Amino acid sequence: MALRAAADVKADFERRMGRPATVVARAPGRVNIIGEHTDYNEGFVFPMALEQCTWVAAAPRTDGQVRVVAAELNDEQQWPRGGWSKQGFPGWTNYVAGVETLVGALRPGAPGADVLIASDVPVGSGLSSSAALEVSTALAFAALGGVTLEGQPLADLARRAEHEYAHVPCGIMDQYVSVLARRAHAFLLDCRSRTWEHVPLQLGDAVVLVVNSGVRHALASGEYAVRQKQCQAAVAYFRQRNPAVRALRDVTSADVEAHRRQLESLVAARARHVTTEDERTRAAAAALRKGDLETLGRLLYASHESLRRDYEVSCPELDLLVDIVRGVPGAYGARMTGGGFGGCIVAIVKQTAVPAVTEAVRARYDAAGHGPSYAIVTQPGPGAALEFRA
Ligand code: ADP
Ligand code: MG
Repeated sequence: MALRAAADVKADFERRMGRPATVVARAPGRVNIIGEHTDYNEGFVFPMALEQCTWVAAAPRTDGQVRVVAAELNDEQQWPRGGWSKQGFPGWTNYVAGVETLVGALRPGAPGADVLIASDVPVGSGLSSSAALEVSTALAFAALGGVTLEGQPLADLARRAEHEYAHVPCGIMDQYVSVLARRAHAFLLDCRSRTWEHVPLQLGDAVVLVVNSGVRHALASGEYAVRQKQCQAAVAYFRQRNPAVRALRDVTSADVEAHRRQLESLVAARARHVTTEDERTRAAAAALRKGDLETLGRLLYASHESLRRDYEVSCPELDLLVDIVRGVPGAYGARMTGGGFGGCIVAIVKQTAVPAVTEAVRARYDAAGHGPSYAIVTQPGPGAALEFRA
């Protein structure tokens, strides 16, 4: 399906609101190529922005009301500027009102607004529709209020909205890549120093293929909390030996191996995933700098195995999808992406192999009663931008 352009969103706004939009902004979703569950261990992540974006068109209102239409959800809500309350509002308004309140605080006296949200990012599938929503609405509200908001402060504000209003304790990856990504590049982010490098994604005859499993198992958030505790237990052990250890970032996989017997077995397994994943993430960036897709692909498969066996955040559906990709000639590698327990896999496959992969997924996954799945072929897109201002 063709992706939206600014003109489509402007026309949609005018049709629904009966007047023209004065600003149009867009922010991409993302897929994490490698570096899973490393962010809260202060390690590295290596995502790229999708071409798929969330779009926001808006125009000021003089009555101080904020009226927001969420096209994908067929919903519309209204509240007085800065006066949203969680009570009685559906969950998606947490993100929008959080951003509206935080941007509004930067410039008291900002106007009300009519706002249209229209998105090409699958919602709730691990491709970070939430960050795309926060960043795009932040750009639109800032433009309406005459506030300059870009780069890291924009990403930080968006993340704050997710923490403080949606109460999702996410890492920095999603908002940073949505804001700071560069077309044709992946984004190597150091979650400790908050510094990043744009690494050219030289894929030659290959493409990035994202396959959505169509499932989301409910145990995820409870399990993530358990993983974080286990990581902290490993840090506590290593810190007793070396006070400089502040996070698993400061521990190598060789350290974990050397101390495996002293650690509780699950704690050792979790620490092994995090430390090897950090090493794989840096190796993946090095492989990409050389255009070495064979190595990149092997690292993706190894990441999946580690997430499945050591971190235990995969699920049968994701394992099956990775297996299916592995069986198709022309596939370099695949892994689950995102927190796990459902969502998507990411694969690097030859362009010519895409039909074979999608056919195999249809035959072995959907026809077996899983899903429904769907595949997205994508390139690394650019970071968020204000696309129109009257
Ligand atoms: P992900 O970020 O992986 O897509 P999340 O659970 O973090 O999944 O965020 C999904 C939530 O973000 C949705 O349940 C909804 O509340 C909100 N959201 C995302 N995109 C939109 C959208 N286009 N319109 C309205 N709400 C959205
Ligand atoms: Mg999210």
